[in-house]
Amino acid sequence: MKSLKVLEGQTAVVTGASSGIGKACAIALGESGANVVVNYAGNPEGALAAVEAIKAEGGNAIACKADVSNIADVENMFKTCIDTFGTVDILVNNAGLQKDAPFLEMSLETWNYVLNVNLTGQFLCAQAAVREFVRRGMTKNSQALGKIICMSSVHELIPWAGHINYAASKGGVMLMMKSLAQELGPMKIRVNSIAPGAIKTPINRMAWETPEAEKRLLRLIPYKRVGTTEDIGNAAVWLASDFSDYVHGTTLFVDGGMTLYPGFEDNG
Ligand code: NAD
Repeated sequence: MKSLKVLEGQTAVVTGASSGIGKACAIALGESGANVVVNYAGNPEGALAAVEAIKAEGGNAIACKADVSNIADVENMFKTCIDTFGTVDILVNNAGLQKDAPFLEMSLETWNYVLNVNLTGQFLCAQAAVREFVRRGMTKNSQALGKIICMSSVHELIPWAGHINYAASKGGVMLMMKSLAQELGPMKIRVNSIAPGAIKTPINRMAWETPEAEKRLLRLIPYKRVGTTEDIGNAAVWLASDFSDYVHGTTLFVDGGMTLYPGFEDNG
């Protein structure tokens, strides 16, 4: 799909794009012809590596520092995007983190920290993107006025003991995405989520970095491989393109079947 340049003439903002899934999405969108704003919070080297990878394929990209949970940072990021590339067509609301604790040990600060980045950050970026979609109006580059892709998780569906804040944030992303899709659909703004399963990135290193850990993890994955960031980048390109123009308000699970209740594969 990348070689088709299906996103030619469009501009994407990808949050949390200095590592992992966000970086892969930024590179995949750039390789598909989009101009890309590679957002980062604290890792300029990772963001610049993504920018260089996109430029090496003949694309256009800039790195932009912003904390997605800070409204002034978000407004500045979108202003930088519009000043540089003229508008924004695609938002990949990817920035997210985990700060785990057993329920009784979870402080209000830890709860708020994860909710602020994973849920409020997506709200702030979506609002800034929609303002620009509406200001700009339709273009010939896409059948939609704009596209928003929320990075959710299989934990929008699967409860996760010891990760109450994270699971609550992704459950919140699910209904935020669906409510936005309901409200913004009549304006031709497409809103969807990607729910990754287990993807090899820094966020879950402990779950796959030793052969024993990876073996344990594979018990949860019917397709019997851990996902790669490219698996998610490919899904993001499709969801951002007109190939998925009738896909709206849905979560695309990219999880090797993790949500198929693998505990029941031997009769439960
Ligand atoms: P990651 O740690 O590599 O990437 C997360 C990125 O978010 C980092 O670049 C980080 O700097 C950035 N970030 C954190 N706080 C930020 C803030 N306040 N402002 C801007 N950026 C911020 O991990 P990842 O696995 O690539 O995670 C990306 C997204 O995918 C997250 O939303 C995560 O919940 C989701 N996800 C990951 C997996 C997985 O298996 N890796 C599974 C399901 C969902």
